This record gives sequence, C-alpha cells and structure tokens, in this order.
Amino acid sequence: MTNVTTDPAKTTPATTLDALVIGAGFAGLYQLMCLRDRLGLSVKTLEAGAGVGGTWYWNRYPGARCDSESHAYWYTFSPELMREWTWSERYPGQAEIMRYLNFVADRFDLKRDIQFNTRVTSAHYDAAANRWNVRTETGESFTAKYLITAVGCLSTANVPKFPGLESFQGKWYHTGQWPHEGVDFTDKRVGMIGTGSTGIQAAPVIAAQAAHLTVFQRTANYSVPAGNVPLAPDFQQYVRDHAAEIRAVTRDTLNGMAFRIETRLAMETPPEEREKIYEAAWERGGLQFRASFQDMMASKEANDTAADFIKRKIRSIVTDPKTAALLSDIDHPYAAKRPPIDTHYFETYNRPNVSLVDVKSVPISHISPNGVCTGEAEYPLDIIVFATGFDAMTGPMLRMDIRGRDGVALQDVWAGGPRNYLGLQIAGFPNLFTITGPGSPSVLCNMPVAIEQHADWISDCIAHLRAKGLERIEAKPESVEKWVAEVNDVASKTLLPLAKHSWYLGANIPGKPRVFMPYAGGMVRYREICDEVVAHGYEGFILA
Ligand code: NAP
Repeated sequence: MTNVTTDPAKTTPATTLDALVIGAGFAGLYQLMCLRDRLGLSVKTLEAGAGVGGTWYWNRYPGARCDSESHAYWYTFSPELMREWTWSERYPGQAEIMRYLNFVADRFDLKRDIQFNTRVTSAHYDAAANRWNVRTETGESFTAKYLITAVGCLSTANVPKFPGLESFQGKWYHTGQWPHEGVDFTDKRVGMIGTGSTGIQAAPVIAAQAAHLTVFQRTANYSVPAGNVPLAPDFQQYVRDHAAEIRAVTRDTLNGMAFRIETRLAMETPPEEREKIYEAAWERGGLQFRASFQDMMASKEANDTAADFIKRKIRSIVTDPKTAALLSDIDHPYAAKRPPIDTHYFETYNRPNVSLVDVKSVPISHISPNGVCTGEAEYPLDIIVFATGFDAMTGPMLRMDIRGRDGVALQDVWAGGPRNYLGLQIAGFPNLFTITGPGSPSVLCNMPVAIEQHADWISDCIAHLRAKGLERIEAKPESVEKWVAEVNDVASKTLLPLAKHSWYLGANIPGKPRVFMPYAGGMVRYREICDEVVAHGYEGFILA
C-alpha cells in the first residue's frame, strides 16, 4: 500500500506500514516474526546486506566463530525449532550460524518481508501524523507508526585514520567488512592490527596460510583456550532432550549463559586449591573461566589471582621471552574488557613465520605504499588486516540521521553519550524502540537471550497500546535521567570501568564521549526491572 508521506520535503510515495524494523540479524528476524505473526501488523524489515545474518553476514574473517557455546546461542522461543536444529561444534562457526539464521528465516517465511541491499539513511518523526518517515540510500521512503532499530552493537567498522592508507599498494580489509569470496593469504606478507576478540581468532588461521604474519599489538589481552570440539551425537541428543532446562538456565544467569557463576570466593580459597580450580577451568576452556569465583568481577584482589594465572600461562606457552613479556604485559583486570577465547592464539607466536610488534611504546605513525610504519621502522606488507573493532553501541544508531519530536537530532541528544530509558526508548522519540542498544545488558549478555527479551517486551508493549487504543509511548525525561544514573552506578560497582581503553566506554574511538554504555546489573535483574515497569502500568513512560 502506498500513499504520500506527510513530510513536505519529500515527494516520493512512501510505503505505509504499521511497523518498520531496521536490520535482519538475530534481533531483526525475531522482531519481524513477533510483530507480523503474533500481532498481525504490516511490517517490513530493511537490511543493508544482501542476506540475513547481521553481524555474521559481515564478519566473515578467518576464524570467525561465536564465543557463546552453541547450545546457548540460538532462539529459544519455539521448542519445535530447538528440536529441529542441531549444532555441529561446541562453538558455532560463522558459516554454520549463517545456515542457522537462513534456516530460521525460511522456516518462518520471513524473507518475503525483508528488503535486502537497503541501507537506512534517515528516520524522522512526524508528530502531527504520529509516524516515522524513513529514507534509504537509494531514495526509497517508508512511513510507519512504530520504528524498531535492530542494528546491532558492533556493526560500524572502525578503521583508524592512519595517514597514507590510500597510498598503500597492497590490499587491506577490515574484519567486519570481509569479502564474501574470502582472502587468499598464500605466500603473502600479512600485517594484522588489533588483538581484541577478532584478532585473537584470526591470527592463528592467517598464520597457517600466510608467508609471514606481523601482529601489531597496542594493548596486550588476556585469552583463555576455547576448547572447541565437534559435538558428539550423545551431547547433541542431550541438548535436544534438555532444551527447556538449558533455556531456563540461560534466563536465570547474570550473562544469559548456560553456566552458573560459582558461589565460592577466590579470596577465601587457599592458593593451592585456587590454582587447581583455575587449571581445571583453563582445561575446560571458554568464557566459563570467569565463572570460577563469585568475587572475580567485584574485587580487584580476587581478579588479580585470575589475571596472574593467565599471565603465567602466556609466559609458559610463548617460547621467545621478549614476545612472551609483551603478550603478558596486560594493563587491565581480567574480563574488564570483553574477554576473548581462542584456538592456539598464544601458540601461534611460536611459529617461525609470526612476529609481534609493540605499537604501544612506538605507535603506528602512518601507512606507506609498502606497509605499516611506526616511528622506528617500516614493515613491508602485501595485505593489511584491520582487526580494529567498531564504533560500538552508539555508532550504528548515530550513523543514521534520526530525528525525534520537533526535528531534534539523536546526534545532539547523545552528544555527551547515550541517554535512554531501559535501553529501550529515548525521550522525545515516541514509538522508536531500540533492541540491545546502550543502556541494556546487550554486549554483556549472551546475545540471543538479550534479544528475545527485548523483542518480546517491545511486542507486548505494542500489543498493549493497540489493546488500549493508545497511539504513542515515549520515555519520560526524568526516567531517562534516573536510568542513565543507574547504568553508571551499577557499572561503578564492578571492575569493568577499570579498563580505561575499552570500547564499553567508547574509548577506542577518538573524540567519543567516555561513558560506560551497557547495563552491568545482569540480565536477570534487568528482566525483573522491565517486568516491574510493565506491572506498574509502563511506569516511567508517557502513554498517549
Ligand atoms: P576490539 O575488541 O575493539 O579490538 C580492537 C583492537 O584493535 C584492539 O587490540 C585495539 O587496541 C586495536 N586498535 C584499535 N585502533 C588501533 C590503532 N589506532 N592502533 C593500534 N591498534 C589499534 O575489536 P574486536 O576484536 O573486533 O572485538 C569487538 C567485539 O566484538 C568483541 O569485544 C566482542 O564483543 C565481539 N566479538 C565477538 C566474537 C565472538 O563472539 N566470537 C568475535 C569477535 C568479536 P586497544 O585495545 O589498545 O584499543
């Protein structure tokens, strides 16, 4: 159905919808299904990529794999769906996750309502019509009463502005915009900048193929072995038989994971016993390492015991003492930055074709036609891999021109950092909902768990508005004030803000406000708060 948008500046006929979803990753797919199939709304999803998958569509770099275990990294809204899908490995790889999301999209016939290759450039709220007018890069217009951004937290690639990049004679790639046809590293001198979760996954795979890999490390990072393995048939059967119990655990844990944090305290455990516990956790592998002790993320002293254990492990694995010292010279508490897990990352530095360059003491100055240059040396390269992360959480929202009531721009409202209520709604932006944005547990939680909670909450909210004959929901400014204070307060009670250079704080992007962005109070508490708000008649929102 088409009609002419109410914005006089635009003349193209706009597609009229009840709801518009931006993004077709985990979040957008489920939100589309909820609104279309449960609520019976007319809904369309606009997606910049040529297929579903979101972060997994773009991040095709070598070694890309999820750090959540597969039995917890899927949708849980449908018991049938959980019975129909079987993961093949302990951690699902990028290609398998893409197969899964395509399976889900086809299973629920979602693709017919997704418009691919369509990047949203602006979304303006028209108060008189109570509609969001949305424009795309190709000049198409859409108008919808409800706008839901499912744009992900880590979808705006950060390529540092090194002078001279355009003069580089070789090829360069950002891991989050990886070519679909892959990159052949055979006989190539490869430089990789960045040692976050991505670089740590990619390095061993690139090193196995390239003539030489030079890793440029600014901040040394912890990592624990992932322990990835193909799943045995009996474990796959166990997951099918116990899917409901596993789901219940993921909804009952701080981080939405299928494991519980131990109640014991590191500081009350004798050192020899503590060592055995860490050793067993290291052998078991994975993000569970940080669940070894209850106090690990609350007490610096307790955290030091974990940090010290991992640093000793690094020094025992890496044979060259200078490289080992650089890799283990870590300046922040364990897991205060998102903790990576790996497959033979530290072992990779024992290969003769791998070298590590410290760009903390001597930073990268520029890129020359030949390669990467620091103040001390030029490193000749054929390929540069930027594993340099993302303008996280706010970046995907702010790169669209979003304007609320009276034409107020989100860029201005968020100039000092993200400001919203429950991570769900922004004052002055009625009927705009954000999924797993700043102010919600999002990146501190196993994503599908956080996504299902948000999409369900938003769907229930829209159903409530319709049932009551209401047109609009909008966060009250004072609720935003309180929520921003709450997000800061809960973060300050953890060790997370001690990592001064983390993307959680926006510190990886020059000029970005330093604000701790995700809600660190845990998914369980967050779910309770959201439910209480509903129980009190959408307390903190204006419903009109
Ligand atoms: P990241 O954690 O932000 O790491 C970026 C790396 O690039 C850091 O080592 C950073 O150094 C370095 N860097 C950035 N700018 C630089 C510059 N100008 N000069 C030198 N080095 C520079 O990004 P990421 O590794 O892509 O990971 C981002 C997030 O994505 C993760 O934290 C995680 O949440 C998610 N992720 C998940 C998975 C998974 O589940 N499997 C895999 C990959 C990523 P500094 O530390 O000094 O800034």
